[in-house]
Amino acid sequence: MSEKTIFQKIIDKEIPAEILYEDDLCLAFRDIMPQAPTHFLVIPKKEIVSVNEIEESDATLIGHIFSVIRKLTQDEGIAESGYRVVTNCGTDACQTVPHLHYHVIGGRNMTWPPG
Ligand code: 5GP
Repeated sequence: MSEKTIFQKIIDKEIPAEILYEDDLCLAFRDIMPQAPTHFLVIPKKEIVSVNEIEESDATLIGHIFSVIRKLTQDEGIAESGYRVVTNCGTDACQTVPHLHYHVIGGRNMTWPPG
């Protein structure tokens, strides 16, 4: 069996995280190295490595994750001012944890294009 990812350990409560939301399908927690005043991650509990491994049958799950993102951006007070939802996929995009995750970043002005 392959080694658990750090996010699987957070799902299994083997390592602590500041959890903002949890249900049967997903988990949201603050990023340990925030890149903005608000920076949290939303992950599926299902083991999906990246966008590359999302299947058609995951459509409801992914839709649910975005519904959770919308709710949390309201709770965090960034829904009106704006925020970015980012998912890094693979080496060129600097994905460091091989478990699908959506960064939600807000609370400051951002530039485009990203670095
Ligand atoms: P990636 O580079 O894969 O898109 O993003 C991984 C993110 O996970 C990074 O922003 C990093 O700060 C965050 N991260 C890595 N390890 C931990 C951890 O143990 N706890 C939390 N809360 N975030 C983590």
